[in-house]
Amino acid sequence: MQVHVVGGGIAGVSVAWALLQRGHTVTLWEADKIGGGATQACTGFLHPFPGLRGQMAYLGQEAMEVALRWLQELEKRARVILHRGIFRAALTQDQQYDFEISCRRFPRWVEKVVWRGFAGMWIPQGCVLSAVCFVDTLWALCEEKGATWIQKKVESLDQLPNNEFIVLATGAWSHLWDPSLHSFYNKGQSFQIHIKGDIDWAVSAGGQIGRTDRDHILMIGSTYEHGDLSCNVNLDKAKPFVEQMESFYPEVTPSRIVQGFVGLRVGDSKRPWPLIRTIASNTSLFTGLGSRGLLYAPYFAEQLAIQIEKP
Ligand SMILES: Cc1cc2nc3c(=O)[nH]c(=O)nc-3n(C[C@H](O)[C@H](O)[C@H](O)COP(=O)(O)OP(=O)(O)OC[C@H]3O[C@@H](n4cnc5c(N)ncnc54)[C@H](O)[C@@H]3O)c2cc1C
Repeated sequence: MQVHVVGGGIAGVSVAWALLQRGHTVTLWEADKIGGGATQACTGFLHPFPGLRGQMAYLGQEAMEVALRWLQELEKRARVILHRGIFRAALTQDQQYDFEISCRRFPRWVEKVVWRGFAGMWIPQGCVLSAVCFVDTLWALCEEKGATWIQKKVESLDQLPNNEFIVLATGAWSHLWDPSLHSFYNKGQSFQIHIKGDIDWAVSAGGQIGRTDRDHILMIGSTYEHGDLSCNVNLDKAKPFVEQMESFYPEVTPSRIVQGFVGLRVGDSKRPWPLIRTIASNTSLFTGLGSRGLLYAPYFAEQLAIQIEKP
């Protein structure tokens, strides 16, 4: 089948790859650069225990299996994984209690640890990725399988030639295609900071601290700014994350914020997993990855690729 995928973020490139794996032909329409939307702001944390309570995400194990399988392929081409293993620090007694429950229920995925005086859970198969490298490398694989990219904004679906099937993976622009979408939009900012020294463990403790692909530059963040849909970067918002980094790594000296990134997360207002909607007989919408894009995109992309083959 010829499939037009609109949007080249984590969702669009993942669905392109899943479709190509099943023998379909893919044309990707991306107005900006590939990975230029919310994806460029992603701090890159991939694990199945999100949220304050650190409970196993819906379909978290299945999604993690698929993401790890894809990463094995990508790692043959590029250094997509920046850290292997993630430490989730419990900041309150309640969190400590919740994390212990997760450790007891999912010993395959998580273990209880105390690190640098902080109680929490160690997720050995969790990892921190460069999200941009993830999509770039995945897209390079797509091109090898014959996919093509047209760098153009799709204004109307009539614009797409020979459209056998269309997948709209348009992130924060998805409501333009389906005004009945019950989604929330949440501005997030992440920051790259230059440090003297290095870190060993990637930490998630409300804020996140992880390496980038550059020496002495860390990625920290990210903000959840409700009600502000502007794309302005405000470097002052980095302050609490810098302070948090200093509490985990007092020996590391932050020198300056190198850059701030901003993106809009899109989520389903009713549930924290992606939205796949049929909006016409030959058109599906794939969005709502919220703050779990890396966890959910591969799994749901594979599901969508199977679903569109059904009559
Ligand atoms: C600050 C921040 C930190 C985050 N940290 C994490 C994290 O640690 N782990 C994690 O898993 N997730 C994280 N996320 C979430 C993750 O980044 C998103 O879930 C993911 O990037 C969403 O991908 P997407 O493809 O749906 O959207 P996008 O990346 O926004 O892609 C949509 C693309 O569609 C294109 N487009 C839109 N309309 C059209 C059109 N008409 N024609 C052509 N192209 C069009 C846009 O140009 C854009 O490139 C974070 C998000 C933010 C903002």
